[in-house]
Formats: sequence, structure tokens, C-alpha cells
Amino acid sequence: MYRIGFSEDIHPLKEGRKLFLGGVYFDGAVGLDGHSDADVVLHAVAESILGALALGDLGTHFPDNDPKYKDIDSSLLVKEVMKLASNKGYEVNNIDIQVASASVRLAPHILKMRENVAKLLKTDLENVSIKAMSFNKVGPIGEAKAIKASSIVLMKKI
Ligand SMILES: [Zn+2]
Repeated sequence: MYRIGFSEDIHPLKEGRKLFLGGVYFDGAVGLDGHSDADVVLHAVAESILGALALGDLGTHFPDNDPKYKDIDSSLLVKEVMKLASNKGYEVNNIDIQVASASVRLAPHILKMRENVAKLLKTDLENVSIKAMSFNKVGPIGEAKAIKASSIVLMKKI
């Protein structure tokens, strides 16, 4: 039994914030604004898994007005979502993630992000794809005002 899930997330860039993408810290890069650490990649990942299991959206599980989640490491949100998935008897079959950013070059960090996401999702590296795009100078993402991530995941009944 397989179930598919999808999610997209976008956060605006903000001076003075640290940048985390896929749980990887980008030293010296302008970060993203948000209630948590604003890791747009992990948010898309976590919510796509919720979507596959029809468990609602990320904001319902982790409200952004809850002080508990202020500046929280988004890896913890992914771990919580993986607990929900395993309680339902599901594991990750494979996941395909796209990250759109004009403000940082992602290519040198892709492998580290894949390794990190694979570890969080308790799956093999070959089951985690991360692709980068620059958005070709179009709109707020292409003009380096925001970073967007999309995730599509296939969950498999254990
Ligand atoms: Zn988010």
C-alpha cells in the first residue's frame, strides 16, 4: 500500500537571521524570516508526509503562535511527523524535493542536505532527491527576496 503527498513552502529572506536549509547551516548567508528556524525545506518535507497520510497541515500540528515553537530546530518537527507516520504504520519509500533560491548557491550543499534529510526520514540516501533551481530572476524568488521549497513523497506501508 502506497500513499503520495505534496507540499510547498516559502519564507522571505531577512537580514540578521541564520539560514538553515534541509537542516544544514549556511554560514554567512542571509537567513529566512519565520517563527521557527524557518527551514523552508524541512517544512515542505514534513508537510508532504502529513499530506500523504491525510493528517492535515504543518500549522495545525505546530501552531506558529505557540511560543514552544519559537526559533525551534525544524528537524524536531520532522521527527515528530515521522513518529505520526510510524504510528500509522508507514515509512518513506522515496522523496523528491526542489529548492528555489537566487540568494545562495545550493549545489555545494546538496549532498549534505540529502544525507541530513535521509537520516531524519530514516531512509537511504538513494531515496532522497534534492534539486536546486534559481527561478531565472523571475518574481520574488528569482529576485532573491524569498526561498521556496517543494516536496513530493511516496509513503509505503511497513
Ligand atoms: Zn515554513
